[in-house]
Amino acid sequence: MKTTVKSISIVIPVYNEEDSLRELWKELSAALKNLPLYEVIFINDGSTDHSSSILTELAQENPKVVCIAFRKNFGKSEALSTGFRTAAGEVVVTLDADLQDDPQEIPRLLQKLEEGYDLVSAWREKRRDPFLKKHTSKLFNCTTALVTGLPLHDFNCCLKCYRRDVVKELKLYGQLHRFIPALAYWKGFRVGEIKVNHRERRHGKTKYGPARYLEGFLDLLTVLLVTKYLKRPLHFLGRPGLVSGAIGFLICVYLTVLWFTGHGPIGNRPLLFLGILLILSGIQFFCVGLLGELIVHASHENPLSPERSCEMDAPVVINQSEVLDTEIT
Ligand code: UDP
Ligand code: MG
Repeated sequence: MKTTVKSISIVIPVYNEEDSLRELWKELSAALKNLPLYEVIFINDGSTDHSSSILTELAQENPKVVCIAFRKNFGKSEALSTGFRTAAGEVVVTLDADLQDDPQEIPRLLQKLEEGYDLVSAWREKRRDPFLKKHTSKLFNCTTALVTGLPLHDFNCCLKCYRRDVVKELKLYGQLHRFIPALAYWKGFRVGEIKVNHRERRHGKTKYGPARYLEGFLDLLTVLLVTKYLKRPLHFLGRPGLVSGAIGFLICVYLTVLWFTGHGPIGNRPLLFLGILLILSGIQFFCVGLLGELIVHASHENPLSPERSCEMDAPVVINQSEVLDTEIT
């Protein structure tokens, strides 16, 4: 395969995958043999089986293998994040260690990337996973596509190919690895997708049941907050506040009208308590949103006046995402 990419870093999170690792390395080195300079970074995420010693052996036998070990299990997002920080390649490819992702697909991912994308994600059209997991995952993907506005079929396949800039800008923690394409898309990167071959797990067992996808819906809220509403928290919290406050207000108006028109006492009606509760929660939503706005305001440097240290006649090029995506710390 012809590619203009000069160097590739493959990042693989590993948690108790002792029976797959040697086979994976064999498949990977076969798939990458015609590709340019590459390194394979295994992140051992606190495995308690023999993965650690197998990875050490692989690193000793092959100079292209880099192995990083966590003292305990920190989760896939942390493992990927460490891999991204270590990666030296111009392009980074991630895949699972359990042989479900097919390394033969890597050249096709690179080809798609070269069409002008910053991130290419794999779509496991014929997913080889248990029935329940397949279907909860479909629901998860549809909701994520709808909420984030990125029309992908499969957000969570680990097999992905990224330009270096993308991985250096992603901040992954918790379970955010499930939303990588959405996080990149919101930073202004071009995201593409190709159909790939997916395989059944041959050894060991999955670390994630279908319940994890349901938890993923909560993570979706986090993603919304850190992408769409990071700079305008009042818009995120103000809407439920407005709805709650307005319903509470209407209820109280209705009860006041009843009282004035002589329809009996209203002091002991449950509806009154509901009205008051809704107004108070509306006010609370608003106050928290306003506090958020104050924090954003206080920590936001003026993005349009970065310091210039170059000569007056030299061209000034400012990386837009660096400037506009100043994070709140
Ligand atoms: N993994 C990890 N840390 C964890 C859980 C999983 O590094 O805490 C790795 C695991 O070894 C595998 C990949 O993440 O390489 C995906 O895990 P798994 O195959 O269990 O997920 P599934 O394919 O079932 O969604
Ligand atoms: Mg798997």
